Amino acid sequence: MEETRAVDSIKVKWGLVIHGGVGVLPRDQLTPELEEAYRAALTESLSAGFEAMSGVGSAIDGVVEAVKVMEDSPLFNAGRGSNFTADGVVSMDASIMEGGTVSAGAVAGVRDVRHPIRLARHVMEDCPHVLLAGEGAEAFAREMGMPSQGSDFFFTQRRWDDLQAAKEREAKGEATPNTVDVGAAEVAVGADELKDRAGTVGSVALDREGRLVAGTSTGGSANKKWGRIGDSPVVAAGTYAGSHCGVSCTGWGEYFIRHAVAHDIQARMAYLGVSLREATDQVVHGTLEDHRAGLGGVVAMDRDGYVEMCFNTRGMYRGWVDETGRVRVAIF
Ligand code: ASP
Repeated sequence: MEETRAVDSIKVKWGLVIHGGVGVLPRDQLTPELEEAYRAALTESLSAGFEAMSGVGSAIDGVVEAVKVMEDSPLFNAGRGSNFTADGVVSMDASIMEGGTVSAGAVAGVRDVRHPIRLARHVMEDCPHVLLAGEGAEAFAREMGMPSQGSDFFFTQRRWDDLQAAKEREAKGEATPNTVDVGAAEVAVGADELKDRAGTVGSVALDREGRLVAGTSTGGSANKKWGRIGDSPVVAAGTYAGSHCGVSCTGWGEYFIRHAVAHDIQARMAYLGVSLREATDQVVHGTLEDHRAGLGGVVAMDRDGYVEMCFNTRGMYRGWVDETGRVRVAIF
């Protein structure tokens, strides 16, 4: 069932790939029950995306429906399972982009929206802007008929405990350094730090009409302050879809912004003529690792239906579904 980077190329006629973040628990902490719960949630997400694309649905519908399932699951750091800020509230970011039309929509710092990916879609389709933030984005959600979701809905004990642990580390002066070497990074910054930054969800889909769409949704890092926004709502950093491929990222957002990771993968294909596999390898194992602590991963699809899932961490919750409805999920 498990797949690694060494597998043969995955190619679909049309389909969808998803991730549920790189903050995976070490194998010895992932109980069989929890592993089963993650696998079931990933499968549900893929099935929802596939179903949306099976009828008249487009890649946009597939991405939105797949991401919505993970936003509703408390297992992932997005929507309902979002991390808490230092103030003890959720502050969520999301974006979506369509390659053929190069249209995009994104929201940042929203606190009362159940499905930020749906709001990002509204920004893309029903608004002249690309990125809306905070109260303005929430007001736009109301205009689009999306009700305000009370804060209780977003409370999960697990994320609350993560926030308390992050605050304790901070009080002891153990806040995350800005530069550590990848490889040693998960040891140096600790599994907890990675966990605090990871769990984001995302999807890339290619439909029968050849439309490529990428979307990403996140609660961002635990204990974040000062209105911190990560890469996920930043088009070209956490999400990109262009003429060659679609990419959704997860990981240490500051590094993904600095290196415009999602767009860099598309640009390498366009300018260097390399394959999707080479482009994802060069960025995830080259640029990000060379620039220290660029922990994370990507899922991507190109216009020919090749699927890539590439990460420099111990694992990434992930899966894909092809045109026959065959679902595969993997963690490590
Ligand atoms: N990239 C996200 C952020 O920095 C976090 C993650 O992927 O887990 O907000």
